[in-house]
Amino acid sequence: MKAIVFEQHGPPNVLKYIEVPQPAIKPNEVLVRVKACALNHLDLWVRGGLPGVAIPLPHIPGSDVAGEIAQAGSDVTTVRVGQKVVLAPGVTCGKCPACVSGLDNRCRQFTNLGYMIDGGCAEFIRAPEVDCLPYPENLSFEEAAAVPLVFQTAWHMLVGRAELQPGEDVLVLGAGSGVGSAAIQIAKFFGARVIATAGTYEKLEKARGLGADHGINHKSQKIRDEVRRITNKRGVDVVFEHVGTATWDESLASLAPSGRLVTCGATTGFDAKIDLRFLFSRQLSLLGSYMGTKAELHTVMKLVAAGRLKPVVDRVFPLAEAAAAHAYLESSSQFGKVVLRV
Ligand SMILES: [Zn+2]
Repeated sequence: MKAIVFEQHGPPNVLKYIEVPQPAIKPNEVLVRVKACALNHLDLWVRGGLPGVAIPLPHIPGSDVAGEIAQAGSDVTTVRVGQKVVLAPGVTCGKCPACVSGLDNRCRQFTNLGYMIDGGCAEFIRAPEVDCLPYPENLSFEEAAAVPLVFQTAWHMLVGRAELQPGEDVLVLGAGSGVGSAAIQIAKFFGARVIATAGTYEKLEKARGLGADHGINHKSQKIRDEVRRITNKRGVDVVFEHVGTATWDESLASLAPSGRLVTCGATTGFDAKIDLRFLFSRQLSLLGSYMGTKAELHTVMKLVAAGRLKPVVDRVFPLAEAAAAHAYLESSSQFGKVVLRV
């Protein structure tokens, strides 16, 4: 089969479009003919290399897959060959206390398709049967592939961790990112008021189109000042963080008393400072969040199929042009998801 493979870490041009053996499946796995694979920031980290993480090389990246079942293992009973499918990105042991409690994103063996195992930037991918999600028939393959990772992550952050309540104020950083465009919709779905940030007025307009009530241009405006103005000096109940060092101080300063900051990543850097007096006297909560559970993903897929949540696809590239797609995502000029068509 054809696949995007890298043999060493580095810039986008380490990605090669080459012929590799088709994966062999285990009895509890399916082989999926990939139709579309969406990119995530994780793909850029995995390609570039992460300190202390030994990604098996050579490696096929790609976590978000939509396609058709090409082959089913002998123990597979819930899906059949020819069926359209979206894959859950998370792969876990399925047997530990976390997994059997439905808290599979806390499994010690948790990984993503395309992270410590081969991913979906290929004509075929193998995946556990339990990762097969119902296909939302209202969506194209490109749209369907744009759903799982970012919507699951944003749902777990806002609903699972921050326990968002109707009528609360939410600050969504980086509205143009996949996870940001998902967070705006989920927060609105829960009846929150959403303040979104982006680096261009064009992106802020698109954020309003997704339901954001207010926009802050973080290049020309100071986030904390705008949040104070919009909320009558109160601050927001929830800050949706994934940017890291570049926005951390502004995020903390934007919280209302008893506010919660929830973070799933740090695309601009991992270093952050906090004044502990501010943390305890204002009774703030800092919440870490990692991916989401399969149960949450099933909820998300149901809402997507019903048209209540919509994937935002910015641009589609052919699989062979994965290097160009990585470079485009790295430039942060997108609004929503960058997807590879296979
Ligand atoms: Zn487990």
